[in-house]
Amino acid sequence: MIIIMHSEATPFEIDNVVAEAEARGWQTHISHDSGETFIGLQGKGQPLDPFHLGQMPGVKETMAITQKYKLASRAFRREDTTFTIGGVTIGGEQVAVIAGPCSVESREQLLETAHAVKEAGATFLRGGAYKPRSSPYSFQGMGEQGLKLLAEAREATGLPIVTEVMSPNKVALVAIYADVLQIGARNMQNFDLLNAVGQAHKPVLLKRGMSATIEDLLMAAEYILAHGNNRVMLCERGIRTFDNKYTRNTFDINAIPLLKELTHLPIVADPSHAIGVRRHVSAITLAGLAAGADGLILETHPDPDHAVSDGDQSLTLPQFRELMNQVRALAEAVGRRV
Ligand code: PEP
Ligand code: MN
Repeated sequence: MIIIMHSEATPFEIDNVVAEAEARGWQTHISHDSGETFIGLQGKGQPLDPFHLGQMPGVKETMAITQKYKLASRAFRREDTTFTIGGVTIGGEQVAVIAGPCSVESREQLLETAHAVKEAGATFLRGGAYKPRSSPYSFQGMGEQGLKLLAEAREATGLPIVTEVMSPNKVALVAIYADVLQIGARNMQNFDLLNAVGQAHKPVLLKRGMSATIEDLLMAAEYILAHGNNRVMLCERGIRTFDNKYTRNTFDINAIPLLKELTHLPIVADPSHAIGVRRHVSAITLAGLAAGADGLILETHPDPDHAVSDGDQSLTLPQFRELMNQVRALAEAVGRRV
């Protein structure tokens, strides 16, 4: 249930409603939308009488949320959620461009990429220090050394860092270095990890699992939001379908306008993991932007043919620069900017 307070409701009246709900065992989440205060109730409290609540001073109306996801829903928050990281506002007019290698491999590789993507107009640097590899024999990432290199690259370029955290016991460490904690597709339903990043007070980029439905993704976001961490971006990175012979995954373009309708959270498109084929990444990037994505995440490498991971889908630095020209032109055409 959501309780919407009158715009003139006093802090005392809001506290009173919160106390009433909490006394009946509900968790409360407060958000502000169009000048009004929304009190979202979550958990398994005792039933509350909407008529009684409606009579309490300051209450404008009460509303049942019928979707399974509550805090992520448009019913809970009608306005788009926006938040600012390192001077870039996500979820507004500006399109966030997150670029960098799949894995941090060396100081030279990372710094060369960071300077090049910054110059081309990227607004975030990505790079994995802990890598979720399908094979235990593949490169697993540089670990904390990789995080330190990311921090050095941020120092050198000013670009905030997006990097993956794979286990709950690494959240505190990764949060020291990262500006955004990435939850990878394989961990979308790692509920211990979702709870841990919910408590981390850092923005989160939550990637859709490769076989997850849109509702599964929204329910995963709900875990993070339930801890009061409202800075969550959702990422469409391609799903498994019956035909992935020529591509790595299938970019679910439907997910972008659908998610924009169902949730107030910003949506990021990941064309690299979606199609997995370097020469087609540009087309999917532009499609994602045209469909309404608030951000793009693009794997970019100085020498993709020798990358330790995801080289097949990584753009070269000149390709990234060229794509940014197209992204800027299209962004303007659809009323956005980079
Ligand atoms: C990545 O971003 O490099 C990655 C591993 O992505 P995903 O979790 O979407 O496969
Ligand atoms: Mn990758």
